[in-house]
This record gives sequence, C-alpha cells and structure tokens, in this order.
Amino acid sequence: MRVAGVRSVNLLCRTARRLGPEIANPSRLPAVVASHVRSCLRCQADAVRYRRLRRELGSLADRIEAAPPFLLTGVEQAISAQLASSAGSRQHAHLAATIAGTAAAAASAVAVAMWRRARAAV
Ligand SMILES: [Zn+2]
Repeated sequence: MRVAGVRSVNLLCRTARRLGPEIANPSRLPAVVASHVRSCLRCQADAVRYRRLRRELGSLADRIEAAPPFLLTGVEQAISAQLASSAGSRQHAHLAATIAGTAAAAASAVAVAMWRRARAAV
C-alpha cells in the first residue's frame, strides 16, 4: 500500500540530511527544507545533534590538548601517500585534498570523543 506524501517526505529528509550541519541553522536553509525540518521529528533530532556538537566544539576553542602521536602520524602518512601517488594530476590533487579533509574531520571526531570520555570520567 502506498501512502500519499511519503515519497516527498523521504526526499526532503534526504535533502536535509545532505545539508549536514547546515540543518542546524534554519535561517540559512531553503524555505521548503526549513519548513520540512520544522515538521519532521527525525530532521529536528539531527538539527539538535548538530547544534550540540557545535556547542561542544565551541567550548573547546580555548582548550589546548596534545593530539595522540598515532593520530597525527597516521593522517600525515595518508596524505603523503596520496600526494605521492597523484603527483601532477589535478583530479588526483582534488582527491588528495578530499582525503585530507576527511582525515581532519575524523581526527576532530576522535578529539571530541576523547574529550567526552575525559569529561565523563570527571
Ligand atoms: Zn525529515
């Protein structure tokens, strides 16, 4: 049985999800997406998670922690290996930049997880 409107709701949820952290700032969303987020509990939950993450990252702005040595070494090796294999190719350079960005995001996620674990232990 097909329920009217389900397909468009799923499409709007996917569209909102693709916007990533932007979903946390409704004033910057396209009107149709902002309207959907206001009425969709799943998208509202995503927005709340992004706002909480932004708040937690903001609270770390003045905190200096040494990154675990294995983390930095692994990121540098991944970037160096990708750059070495893609020398001279613009497409490969874009891929290397994407990998570097992904590695930086992963390092940030690990840092937040470590911070949460340290905070929970107090
Ligand atoms: Zn939704």
